[in-house]
Amino acid sequence: MVNWSLGEEGELLLSNVRILMSKYGESYWNQIDWRREFPEDFINDFFKAELGGILVPKEYGGPGMGAREASAILYEVNRLGGNSYFLHGQYYVTYALSRCVGGDRRDICLREVVRGRRAMTLALTEPQAGSDTTKISTFARKVNGKFIVNGRKVFISRLSHTDYLLLAVRTSPYDPARRTYGITLFLVDAKSPGIERKEIRTMSNTDAHEVYFNNLELSMDDVIGEVDKGFGCLLAALNAERTMIAAELLGNARWFLDRAVKYASERKVFDRPIGANQGVQFPLASGYAKLLAAEALLGETLEQLEGERAGEYSNSLKYISAELSWDLANVAMDVYGGYGYASDTGVERKFRETRLYMVAPVSQNLALSYLAVHSLGLPRSY
Ligand SMILES: Cc1cc2nc3c(=O)[nH]c(=O)nc-3n(C[C@H](O)[C@H](O)[C@H](O)COP(=O)(O)OP(=O)(O)OC[C@H]3O[C@@H](n4cnc5c(N)ncnc54)[C@H](O)[C@@H]3O)c2cc1C
Repeated sequence: MVNWSLGEEGELLLSNVRILMSKYGESYWNQIDWRREFPEDFINDFFKAELGGILVPKEYGGPGMGAREASAILYEVNRLGGNSYFLHGQYYVTYALSRCVGGDRRDICLREVVRGRRAMTLALTEPQAGSDTTKISTFARKVNGKFIVNGRKVFISRLSHTDYLLLAVRTSPYDPARRTYGITLFLVDAKSPGIERKEIRTMSNTDAHEVYFNNLELSMDDVIGEVDKGFGCLLAALNAERTMIAAELLGNARWFLDRAVKYASERKVFDRPIGANQGVQFPLASGYAKLLAAEALLGETLEQLEGERAGEYSNSLKYISAELSWDLANVAMDVYGGYGYASDTGVERKFRETRLYMVAPVSQNLALSYLAVHSLGLPRSY
């Protein structure tokens, strides 16, 4: 298990998460998956337990905790059979808000988040730009001191169940000589006129949407960071997102491993436990060895998250954790035989849930491209 080094307050948080997860056991998560429902009861209780606002700084009434506590919570929810997908947006959005300057909207939002409001969505991806983020074309045009936003986003998570979204748009056209210049972040009321959405049905239960902005009106008070210079703040959010999602992937990896080991010990075929066969036990032992290494890397990444090597560590961690969780998902499927394919064991649900992170929030190829260029000094391929 990860050595979180949380201190008394953090440990108390984790024990509250465990209590909550004992109320929302695996059958709850299986059922909302079958019915494609948002886990509204769980999320309400999560916020009532004051777990939603932990990253809000003390000057806004929050406890001012960090990515370490958030990662521990996401890991634990997944380790205990839940799906942190429905939570992680709240953490990386409030992480970005607490680190970047902003106007009135930000201050109000942070205070409201402490009281249970939801800031769970980052709207970045666009159909044409894809992984080439600086080519986004949703545009906020300045008119009489206001910003008028038009454009389209895709795969925007949790949109129908959030109060605020962090929106990345262009305020100046793309310039190949200064690719990251001209991007601005806005904090937006999700129910604003000018926002329409269409749900995208996906492989797992996601509440993901295609979103259309039609003359959405925003003001300077809604800007997070600086106009045209939002990319730095966006990067802080993306590194935190990669790290926190990696933590939940390692929670999944633990879940697959724990489940598969238990099943391999109990299931008898040819008059002995299947786990007595090296063909069954070696993939489990190999996954265990890799998990110990990945959990150590998670600890180191949390140390580096505010420093110069944040990109290198968070991309490495995201890459390793997604590979490992997906490998162990397949190992668990094999160990369970036909029962892995049956929905009520939860293995196939987790299998689908964990597969998402081979492509999101950054694809494995793009995480490797980052390392090739920034860590190894190889020519840029993208
Ligand atoms: C369920 C779900 C929820 C999501 N939630 C959000 C959200 O809340 N907010 C948000 O902003 N986005 C969200 N996303 C979007 C997600 O971040 C993107 O899907 C992801 O970044 C990849 O972009 P793309 O799908 O356009 O793939 P593309 O960029 O089209 O890439 C397709 C494939 O080509 C590969 N590829 C592309 N270029 C290169 C290259 N130069 N070298 C090597 N390989 C390359 C990629 O690795 C990938 O495998 C979500 C996606 C899903 C599926």
